Amino acid sequence: IKSIGVLTSGGDAPGMNAAIRAVVRTGIYYGIKMFGIRKGYNGLISGDIFEMNARSVSDIVHRGGTILQTARCKEFTTDEGMQKAMSLSRAFGLDALVVIGGDGSYRGARDFSKYGMKVMGLPGTIDNDIASTEYTIGYDTAMNTVQDALDKIRDTAYSHERCSVLEVMGRHAGHIALNVGVAGGAEVILLPEKQFDFDKDIIRRIVQGRNNGKKNYIIILAEGVAEKIGGALELAKKVEDLTGIETRGTVLGYIQRGGSPSIRDRVMASAMGVKAVELLKDGVYNRVMCVEKAKIVDIDIDEALSMTKDIDHEMLRLVEILSI
Ligand code: ATP
Repeated sequence: IKSIGVLTSGGDAPGMNAAIRAVVRTGIYYGIKMFGIRKGYNGLISGDIFEMNARSVSDIVHRGGTILQTARCKEFTTDEGMQKAMSLSRAFGLDALVVIGGDGSYRGARDFSKYGMKVMGLPGTIDNDIASTEYTIGYDTAMNTVQDALDKIRDTAYSHERCSVLEVMGRHAGHIALNVGVAGGAEVILLPEKQFDFDKDIIRRIVQGRNNGKKNYIIILAEGVAEKIGGALELAKKVEDLTGIETRGTVLGYIQRGGSPSIRDRVMASAMGVKAVELLKDGVYNRVMCVEKAKIVDIDIDEALSMTKDIDHEMLRLVEILSI
């Protein structure tokens, strides 16, 4: 391998910069030419590709977002788009491509490998919804951001004896909602992975809490559920109508995606970035970086994409016990 390109794709996540830095510096360390590709797969199709050196990634390890920018690219899902991307990759002399992104980005990388590109995937998404890994870059920071917001909301819920509904990100996966719910002492956590009964699991729980002397209540609503039953504001109104308890809804939105990455995200991104490039250097490719039993390992990209992941049901049991 003489030259490697790196891009970020899909939704941005804190720690992506730390990953870019690790990939670029490791390549340079081993004498490999490194290229940055802007705006995800779009840059590969439009030729927005530039050579990077060790200094190109100075002062970014602590920054949220991604200096390479990110995007979704429809054209890359077509044969024509892949051909274009491949001919530009050849023109720039790219021997391999490191993709930092979610499952969708992995699918793009896997398909691109069929056109002859050697690929490596790094899990970058706040949702922790990549089946092949226990942990994704950005997840820890996002959870801490949500936790911080929840603590603040709890203060005012306490002061006004209110119920608060907090809508958090997670379209298909409720990992953020579940963890923050446990850590923040939520009474109710609504996850896309788990069916619930409106009356039994929400209303009766809140009323039961009131009967037990509770004065304030937290409901965590994952985005995937909000899309089905209406958002936090709508749910707040329903809860207020049915319980008589003053209820307020908050949608956290994009603040969950930004911010300076936590130490865990920085360390994980750094270690995965180094490993991905060292594997390429050793002639190993078409793999994705994963955390398995708290260790960083690599697995075949096809195998990774065939895996499924569930939420931690034991955590739900904790909520059952701790929210009485
Ligand atoms: P996030 O978890 O933040 O949503 P993601 O990587 O899953 O990240 P997607 O929007 O699903 O985000 O995918 C990012 C990009 O990957 C797409 O815009 C597209 O360019 C490419 N991609 C996704 N699926 C495929 C596919 N089946 N074939 C080729 N390219 C794909």
